[in-house]
Amino acid sequence: MVKILVAARIHRKAIEMLEKRGFSLVYREEPDEEELVNLVRDAEVLIVRSKPLVTRKVIYAGKKLKIIARAGVGLDNIDLDAARERGIEVINAPEAVTNSVAELTIGLMLSALRKIAYADRMMRRGIWPKKESIGYELRGKTLGIIGMGRIGRAVARMARYGFGMKILYYDVIRCPKEFEEEVGAVYTDLDSLLRGADVVSIHVPLTPKTKHLINESRLKLMKKNAILVNTSRGGVVDTNALIKALREGWIAGAAIDVYEEEPLPPNHPLTKLENVVLTPHIGASTYEALERASIDIAEKVINFFEKTVPGDTTGSKQRL
Ligand code: NAD
Repeated sequence: MVKILVAARIHRKAIEMLEKRGFSLVYREEPDEEELVNLVRDAEVLIVRSKPLVTRKVIYAGKKLKIIARAGVGLDNIDLDAARERGIEVINAPEAVTNSVAELTIGLMLSALRKIAYADRMMRRGIWPKKESIGYELRGKTLGIIGMGRIGRAVARMARYGFGMKILYYDVIRCPKEFEEEVGAVYTDLDSLLRGADVVSIHVPLTPKTKHLINESRLKLMKKNAILVNTSRGGVVDTNALIKALREGWIAGAAIDVYEEEPLPPNHPLTKLENVVLTPHIGASTYEALERASIDIAEKVINFFEKTVPGDTTGSKQRL
C-alpha cells in the first residue's frame, strides 16, 4: 500500500479522495527537520504547503519517495536540486490560488489608497483621523503590472472591469493580442511602467533575474503619489531601498504581503512607517484556495499512481 505523509494542513475533501483510493495516510502538521526525516523514510508521497522545509537531508532520507506535492504554488521550501538528483517528481497546484492572491492585491491597493489600515490603527488609539485619511480612487488611474502571468492577468481583469483602471504591463513574454485587447493592456518596458503608473503591482517569481528588481534607482522613477503593492516574493524588492523611499517620500505608500525575511521580525523598520500596509503572507490564505489546491494535488497524486506501469502493454494500473 502506498504511504502518503501529509506534513501540512490540507482540505478534508482531498484526504477523503486519497483514502477512498486506498492510500495509507500519515498526518503530521509541519514537523521539524528531524521529525520529518524519521517520518519520510517509508513514504512514497510527501504532501506539504509553504511549510515544512523539505531539505536535502529530508529528500535523501525518503528512500521510497516518488512525489513531493505542494498544495499551493511556491516551491521555495523544497530543495529542488536534491529532488532532481533523486528523480523525485515535484508537483504543485499553480491555478488554485490565483484568484485569492489577486483579490488580496486589490484589497491592499484599496487599503493603501483609501488609508483603511491607517485609519483603523488611529481610531484604536482614540484618534479621529478624518482629515489625514483623504485618499485616492482607483477609477481612471493607471495600474502598472510587473509580471503578467496567472495572478497578474487576474488582477488586470479585476482592475479593468471592477474599477475602470488603465493597464500598463511589463513581462519577459508579451501576452497574446486577445488578452491585451480584452483588458486594454499596453505592453511597455519596466522603466516606462514605473514612470507612468499610479499603482505598481508586482507578480513575478523570485529568480536571480528578479532579485531586487525594484531597487533604489527604480523606486526613484515612480511618481511621488504612486503606491507599490507586492504580493509576489519579498526578495523582488530591495527592502532597505523601499524603507528609504517611504521615509523620504519618493513614493506615497506601499502595501506588502511578502518579505525578504519571514516572519517579519518584531520592530522591523517597516512596522514603524504609517504609509505602508502590511499583511503576513496571506495571499493564498483563503478557505477556497486551500480546498482547490488540496483537491488539485490529490487528483495529481491519484493520476500519477494510476498511470500505466512502464513496459506494461496490458494497460493495467500500478497497485496502490
Ligand atoms: P506565473 O508564472 O503565472 O507568472 C509569472 C510571470 O512573471 C510570467 O508571465 C513570467 O513570464 C513573468 N516573469 C518571470 N521572470 C520575469 C522577469 N525577469 N521579468 C519580467 N517578468 C518575468 O506566476 P503566478 O501564478 O502569476 O504567480 C506570481 C508570483 O506570485 C509567484 O512568483 C509567487 O511567488 C507569488 N505568489 C504569492 C502568493 C502569496 O501568498 N502572496 C501566493 C501565490 C503566488
